[in-house]
Amino acid sequence: MTGSAGAGYLGVDIGGTNVRAALVGAAGSILLLERWPAEIHLGREHFLGRLAGNLAALRERGAATGIETAAVGLGVPGLIAKTGLVHSSVNLEPLVGLNLKDAVSAETGLPTVVMNDANAAAFGESRYGAGRSYASLLMFTLGTGVGSGLILDGALWTGIDGVAAEYGHATVEPAGLLCPCGNCGCLEQYASATALTRAAITSVQHQGGMLADIPAGELSAETIAAVARRGDTLARSLFEEAGRYLGIVAATVANLLNLEAIIVGGGVAASFDLLDAAIRREVDRRAFAIPAARLVIRPGELGDDAGILGAAALARELSGNAPK
Ligand SMILES: [Zn+2]
Repeated sequence: MTGSAGAGYLGVDIGGTNVRAALVGAAGSILLLERWPAEIHLGREHFLGRLAGNLAALRERGAATGIETAAVGLGVPGLIAKTGLVHSSVNLEPLVGLNLKDAVSAETGLPTVVMNDANAAAFGESRYGAGRSYASLLMFTLGTGVGSGLILDGALWTGIDGVAAEYGHATVEPAGLLCPCGNCGCLEQYASATALTRAAITSVQHQGGMLADIPAGELSAETIAAVARRGDTLARSLFEEAGRYLGIVAATVANLLNLEAIIVGGGVAASFDLLDAAIRREVDRRAFAIPAARLVIRPGELGDDAGILGAAALARELSGNAPK
């Protein structure tokens, strides 16, 4: 089979709250999109049944327009083995221990690949988004947590066990905040949307400013960003602090891998302009001049679609259909 105009690939972005699935054309355009609640509290069988039903429906709707589905790719939050086994997933506990690749492949009869959701997003940006012109990059997805995905010479690097590039759990404070992963002082505890909100709630008690006018229940990365853009010193400093921690890690990456780019995606990336200068300053301060000068730091371009596009692209490439 070739990557002809008639071939399509199912890309699935599984989240703790919602699942989004798309039929993606060979050149990376989203042809059909479906979204439904994960309802993981109803258990594994319910989840898989709904997934199978929606994938079959997308496939049928594609076939009705002459698009033949050739493979499936799924991004899942958690540690995913190369075999497709879900080692761990905080948000999708009922899937732990399941080989999702085997389950979906058996249901659809299609070549299937399962990957970590941040890896899927990195692959999507690498193929169709902000990473298109770079062979090697690291992408951070800043949301509830901090995910990351590493592309080396055009290929997704997943490590010997499939669980590489969990760089949201790089230690930035040796005796810092306890992380659910068991380590102390992970980047995720300082640069996620959750971390920004927590830092705002703590510091507003002492420092006041415009953030003090917002009820604690309404503080979020978005509302803090809006206040920062109105010039509030505290709100700006919270983003600068998150950027500083990202920059510490980015400098290490620059020295270790001499990458071309770091892409910042996820919900907090809408505030890239508030993070950018602090990341850059830290990289220039800490990394060697040559890798620091080489490293481009830029926001993602695909937004919420990075994961489904990346999952579909990896499915396409692993099923033998090379990119154009
Ligand atoms: Zn951690």
